[in-house]
Order: sequence, then structure tokens, then C-alpha cells
Amino acid sequence: MLMPLEMTHLFLSEVITDDDVVVDATMGQGYDTIFLAKLSHRVLAFDVQAAALDMTRQRLREHKLTAELILDGHEALDQYIDQPVKAAIFNLGYLPQSDKTVITHAKTTIIAIKKLLDLLVRGGRIALMIYYGHDGGAEEKDAVLSFVTDLPQKEFHVMRYGAINQAHQPPFALLIERR
Ligand code: SAH
Repeated sequence: MLMPLEMTHLFLSEVITDDDVVVDATMGQGYDTIFLAKLSHRVLAFDVQAAALDMTRQRLREHKLTAELILDGHEALDQYIDQPVKAAIFNLGYLPQSDKTVITHAKTTIIAIKKLLDLLVRGGRIALMIYYGHDGGAEEKDAVLSFVTDLPQKEFHVMRYGAINQAHQPPFALLIERR
């Protein structure tokens, strides 16, 4: 059965073609950047930690893939992108095996989602993996959920996918499509 992360990839892979502008809003270890770079040669990936760019650059080299790696917060993404965007992915929380105090935050996450929604083409999609077991995670989850719950239904489809019988705080996916 599809896990939430796999669902985000399936959801985005259905619409991405080779010359679409696509965004990895939270590079982290680079897994999503690799996933996107296999589908399009116009990937922009953001992270605020140089360690994330180093890991991702290495991983891209191993796979012989390319992406534009940007050391800046996703809330500034409009400074780097002025073209329509087909798809974007977020993995919220902290970088595994790294500094757990550098986390994504509701305020900047929501600014980035808003900017992407403005750039998103019709039929374009945004997927978010919501991890919220860490300190600060619950606040971000609640704020992001509240924001996407209020998106106008005439303009956007918004879905949620995740386990409902698991212990602790299992991550879940939010899936958004511009209609
Ligand atoms: N929880 C996920 C991984 C999340 S990684 C998992 O377990 O797989 C989240 C990444 O977002 C980190 O590398 C962190 O540095 C980055 N990040 C934090 N704030 C950011 C911001 N404002 N813009 C872009 N990336 C940010």
C-alpha cells in the first residue's frame, strides 16, 4: 500500500513533464530533488542549510542529474522564479541526522505556499509531507492545515492522506491542485 511520501511522488509524477518548472521547497537530504530531477530538467531546490546543499549536490552527481540548488529560504522563492510552476514539494520538520533546532516554521512555510499558489499553472500541483512529532511541529501542522482548509474550493482541490490507526504522530500528506 502507498505510504504518504510515495503518494506525494505519485501525485506529482502524474503532471510533471521534462521542461516544467518544478520546486523542491525543502531540499534536506535531497531525495525529493532527485525524484524531481528525474522528471524535469528545470528543478529549483531550496534549503537554508549548506549541509543540505552539499548532500544534495553529491546525490545529484551520483545520479548524473542536474538541479539548481539555492541556499535561501523558500519564503524568498519569488526572487528566483518568475515563470509558471507546474509542481512543488515540501518535507516539513528538521533535517534527519542533523541540527534538530533548524526546523521549518508555519509563518515562512505559509508564505512559500502562497507564493507558489500564485505561480502555479492550472492543473499544477503542490504536495506537502507534514511531520509534526518534533518540538514546534504541532504548531506548524495546525497552521498549515488551517491555511489549506480555507483555500477556495472553486480554485483548488485539497486532499489529505495518512494513516489514522498509527501510534505517535505519523506524518501525513497534503495534496493541492489548481483547478
Ligand atoms: N522531516 C523530514 C525532513 C525534513 S527536512 C524527514 O524526516 O524526512 C526539512 C528541511 O527544510 C531541512 O533541511 C531544513 O534545513 C529546511 N528548511 C528549514 N527552513 C527552511 C526554509 N525557510 N526554507 C527552505 N528550507 C528550510
